[in-house]
Amino acid sequence: MPAPSELGTVVLAVPEGEPVQLELRVESVMEGVLVTGTARTRAVGECARCLQDIELDIDVDLQELYVYPESDAEDDEAGRVVDDRVDLDPLLRDAVVLALPFRPLCRDDCPGLCPRCGARLADDPGHGHDEPDDPRWAALAGWTHDDRPGTSPGPDEE
Ligand SMILES: [Zn+2]
Ligand SMILES: [Zn+2]
Repeated sequence: MPAPSELGTVVLAVPEGEPVQLELRVESVMEGVLVTGTARTRAVGECARCLQDIELDIDVDLQELYVYPESDAEDDEAGRVVDDRVDLDPLLRDAVVLALPFRPLCRDDCPGLCPRCGARLADDPGHGHDEPDDPRWAALAGWTHDDRPGTSPGPDEE
């Protein structure tokens, strides 16, 4: 099946239309059908540290009970069998979102970006800056860290 839209998170998602390989077993149970199996696909996103494009293989287990329309199960407890069909999108969406890392990285030890110039440190391990900090930026940093006037009374006065 092609991937439905919005399959994933803000930082990492399966592109809409990306092939999703499904291996499903469908069993009849008392109240409906139990769908179990696996889904395989590919998510794309950006490394949380260096913003490089990354791809991630997704391989998730699926399990969902779909009940017949006459069942009195709550809608949020189970999917529904509608016209002898089941909607796999919500099941796939939940499973994939759970499987995605919250902070995807291009590699586990990604060094990220240089805080000074934004260079990608993995591409340039010897990267460094010899010149001193730009005084304008130093002044700005000092200003933002100054105590705000008239607010905190300080711990001694409590
Ligand atoms: Zn990275
Ligand atoms: Zn730099």
